[in-house]
Amino acid sequence: MSVKKGDVVFHLQGKRPDAKFLGYSIAESDGYIASERPPDPGEWGYSKQFYKADLRGLVEFENPVFLEELFHIKNDRLREYFSFKKKSRKLENLFYVIQSDALQCQNGAYLSDASEELLSIIFETIEMSNSTGIPQRTTVKTGEAWKRVKSRIGQQRFSEEIKKLYDSKCCFPECDVMDPRFLIGAHISRWSDNFLAMGNLSNGLCLCLFHDKAFEYGYFVLNDEIQIEAGKNFREDGSVFAVTLKKQFGEKLRYKGPEDAINFVREHRERFLYGE
Ligand SMILES: [Zn+2]
Repeated sequence: MSVKKGDVVFHLQGKRPDAKFLGYSIAESDGYIASERPPDPGEWGYSKQFYKADLRGLVEFENPVFLEELFHIKNDRLREYFSFKKKSRKLENLFYVIQSDALQCQNGAYLSDASEELLSIIFETIEMSNSTGIPQRTTVKTGEAWKRVKSRIGQQRFSEEIKKLYDSKCCFPECDVMDPRFLIGAHISRWSDNFLAMGNLSNGLCLCLFHDKAFEYGYFVLNDEIQIEAGKNFREDGSVFAVTLKKQFGEKLRYKGPEDAINFVREHRERFLYGE
């Protein structure tokens, strides 16, 4: 198992009975093997190599999710999930096991896979725990964080799907960027403009970093025929940037969405021809 750039990484800290999920962050790089020692290698002190991933900003839960409480409240569902995984022989690295008929934290499983299903079991616990007398304020805060994480996971999945749909190639005319590290599965219409359109593949474009930013900042827009036109932030200042962009005005974008994108490009255009 390995961490990929953009992954959501949850932090499970401490030993039982104090072990808790205290928040999450986003991986800034793919995981890699480093010989540089972490500040507190703990039980891994003997090791000469360490698995490392650079993380961006820790988002802390207002109230951490305690493992003890989790094992108690979600015992049945966690057992069910464990048996199902065992049966299906899907190799998933879990942070817990069933030992002597009890849920146990896996020794050294500091890096465990977490499917969306497992994550909902973990984080919906708190939502459910209302009936067990735990204050509601816990519920709301962790629930909100979980919602953000879910949307983040959704976005990641969307981006991957879009790249696949476009055979990992920038769809701006004549652009031949194919390096996945330079490609983005972008939305045509923004979240705030069209909430329902977030997961719709017809609302996606695979663009290289350069064309993604140019589109995002309104240097170009798309007309109803999906041809490139100057957006309101385009400046004809003789720069290489402006010249290469202008060359493609009037050309069609290599759009591959399952349905047409007219409503989405209109929304984008609203902002960058007349709006904002
Ligand atoms: Zn491009």
